[in-house]
Amino acid sequence: MPDKVKLAYFLSGGCGGCDMAIIDLSETLVDVLPYLEVVFWAPTVADVKYKDLEAMPDKSIDVGLYSGMVRLSEQEHIARVMRRKCKVLVAYGACAALGGIPGMGNMHTREDIFQTAYFDTYSTDNPEGVTPQVRCVVDGKYELTLPEFYGYVRPLQHVVDVDYFSGGCPPHHSFVGQAVVAVLEGELPPPGSWITSGKAVCDVCDRNPAGRGEQRHLIQSVKRTIDGVPEEGKCLLQQGYLCLGAVTQGDCGSLCPQVNIPCRGCGGPIPGVKDFGLRAIGSIAASLEKEELVEQIPSPVKLFYRYSLPASMLGRKIK
Ligand code: SF4
Ligand code: SF4
Ligand code: SF4
Repeated sequence: MPDKVKLAYFLSGGCGGCDMAIIDLSETLVDVLPYLEVVFWAPTVADVKYKDLEAMPDKSIDVGLYSGMVRLSEQEHIARVMRRKCKVLVAYGACAALGGIPGMGNMHTREDIFQTAYFDTYSTDNPEGVTPQVRCVVDGKYELTLPEFYGYVRPLQHVVDVDYFSGGCPPHHSFVGQAVVAVLEGELPPPGSWITSGKAVCDVCDRNPAGRGEQRHLIQSVKRTIDGVPEEGKCLLQQGYLCLGAVTQGDCGSLCPQVNIPCRGCGGPIPGVKDFGLRAIGSIAASLEKEELVEQIPSPVKLFYRYSLPASMLGRKIK
């Protein structure tokens, strides 16, 4: 291992769960910390400022983890600074790699979102109709600025070149540990790759019929998780619960099926798949016994593109 790997971490527009996944490394984190020099971790962990990062020499940071999507001009700025300063830049977690849950905002225009947030919700009290402005002057002399709220969410790769992608919402902590060790030991895959074992959730799922020599059959009805309690040990998809484990990276160890929840695809696409949602649609369509069952799929966009709409070929709602 090298003496110290310089690491930078930026939480962009995500929720902070990806930061927690690193903290969840527990003992593994203790083991690798002597080999890491954390030079920037904002805004959650260290009291560092953007100007501190901007002042660092270009390519002086070995690895940068960018978590969260790009929605604001501020996030785009830091993404570009991280790209300049880091030798290796990782889109860390579903938001950075694919747009993530915040990417569901691409089903609405910026105007719709502002209308809901600042006017229509029951808790809104805004009689003067104030909305955020990029610039405003207070008392005739103080200019205040806010980042621009862009029209749509973008994954990191639509803003800067990305070296590696990591799935998960958040990434599973044990897999994060493996990825950190791979970085330290210089055993990363070719640039542009996802950091993954390459297995699908179905491959590591105890419910997989193939694991007990059973044939899969076409499903005859579509169920939601509120429609009942799935039979223990039996494949959820085979019971009618729309599980996306066949097309999702299984680095989480099939966490959701273990607790009766169908996989929703947070791990990102299995290797070779460019558009997760399209592949998921194909996978589920091939499992249905008859075409009419398509009508029973609730909220198809939220099912198939829950984590990946901004990175998909569609990118957003097309009117
Ligand atoms: S990927 Fe999930 S856990 Fe990570 S920042 Fe986005 S919403 Fe949060
Ligand atoms: S479809 Fe879901 S429940 Fe069935 S084997 Fe795959 S991951 Fe497990
Ligand atoms: S089972 Fe699917 S949705 Fe659940 S954590 Fe794993 S990849 Fe994410």
